Amino acid sequence: MHAQCTLRRAVSCAGIGLHSGRKVTLSLKPAAANTGLRFRRSDLGGLEVPASAQHVGGINYATGLSRDTVNVDTVEHLLSALVSLGVDNAIVELNSPEVPIMDGSAAPFVYLIQEAGIRQLSEQRLYIKILRPVALTRGDKRIAVYPSEHFKVTYSIAFDHPLLRHQSRTIRLTETAFVDEIAPARTFTFLKEVEMLRQQGLALGGSLENAVVIGDTGILNNGLRFDDEFVRHKILDVIGDLALLGHALIGHVVVHRGGHGLHTAFAAHLLQERESWTLVDGLEEPGSGVTAPAADALPAVPVGDPVRATR
Ligand SMILES: [Zn+2]
Repeated sequence: MHAQCTLRRAVSCAGIGLHSGRKVTLSLKPAAANTGLRFRRSDLGGLEVPASAQHVGGINYATGLSRDTVNVDTVEHLLSALVSLGVDNAIVELNSPEVPIMDGSAAPFVYLIQEAGIRQLSEQRLYIKILRPVALTRGDKRIAVYPSEHFKVTYSIAFDHPLLRHQSRTIRLTETAFVDEIAPARTFTFLKEVEMLRQQGLALGGSLENAVVIGDTGILNNGLRFDDEFVRHKILDVIGDLALLGHALIGHVVVHRGGHGLHTAFAAHLLQERESWTLVDGLEEPGSGVTAPAADALPAVPVGDPVRATR
């Protein structure tokens, strides 16, 4: 059994929005048990939108939330860091509509949360434990979750580009694994797409300081943080998007060529598939409960034609 957690104290940082290019101050504040993760717009008199699948709005190369007149964009990297460090309850206060992009990864948010510290609350944490597989397919993009004793993610990507034609990785998520292997992986874009994004009024704050930019013959940045930084970033993204479930997941998530639209649609779909999961108050002890299938018993993930996918 695990207690719900919040932050020990309030912390803040400043940056710019990747898509809006606007300056923003972000504050993370402690919250009571069962508050969940909530975004608050101080520039809109403190109106709030919960980090919940039912409030997804404005998927446009990033995950946005909206409720009534409140919207918040690019929530996924921050949510990924919060849930991976065990923060169940917090207020995320912004004075602008977009979460700062920082360096394009979740590492700066990890440092911020570590600076705040974690405090246990008296209520117990509830997990969504997967009992039966659930899948969602859109064309050659697919996401599924299978029963497992742990939270694991397998992700594969395929692009029509020599640098990242195919990458795949499986990781069992623990706080340490997230901090060391996933959080530092930066968002990425193709140079060809940058002009198109800017014409759409997106990526206005984008630069080599906050994204890996892939040109025709190589990356424009000064090297990668991991050989497979791209697929690691996709794992970071799906963890953040599945934070919208509102509970930590006990199951094995398998994604092929996903993006924010697919991830968030799956979160909403999974919540509807009420007979496929149950709420439990802790991780099963080894040797008890439902036996997880061996990794090689999972259905093969089809590799589609490599074409450009959204991130
Ligand atoms: Zn991302």
